[in-house]
Amino acid sequence: MSAVIATATEEFLSNHWSKHMYEQLKTRLLQEREGIRKELDNLRVTNAAVREAAVGERKGMGDHAAEAAHAVESEKSRALESSLRDLLAQVDHALAKFEAGSYGLCDDCGKPISPERLEALPHAHLCIQCKSRREKINR
Ligand SMILES: [Zn+2]
Repeated sequence: MSAVIATATEEFLSNHWSKHMYEQLKTRLLQEREGIRKELDNLRVTNAAVREAAVGERKGMGDHAAEAAHAVESEKSRALESSLRDLLAQVDHALAKFEAGSYGLCDDCGKPISPERLEALPHAHLCIQCKSRREKINR
């Protein structure tokens, strides 16, 4: 009788796509996570180098110019770092949904997200309807 209670994932797989495609999306997410982590590491190294360069340049450029250049650089890398962290959180969330057996289902309405959307954006956690509804609210 327990076979009746299928997990969301099992239902999802039987209704929407092959196991192969499902595994592929998980692999892509894991690779994406690796890539983001590497980028964040690189960013930290770059930031340290920028700071050192700014200290070095002060002698030639004068304090103001060097500080201004440094401020622009660190502003850019902060923005990049925060968008990378955002993306990492979304990828982690998608991977957690794999563990929970709810991958591919919309966080808001619980309906399946279209395979085309997940192929384009494996970390998508909202179906296209909920996504556009939220964007309207935020506007
Ligand atoms: Zn939805």
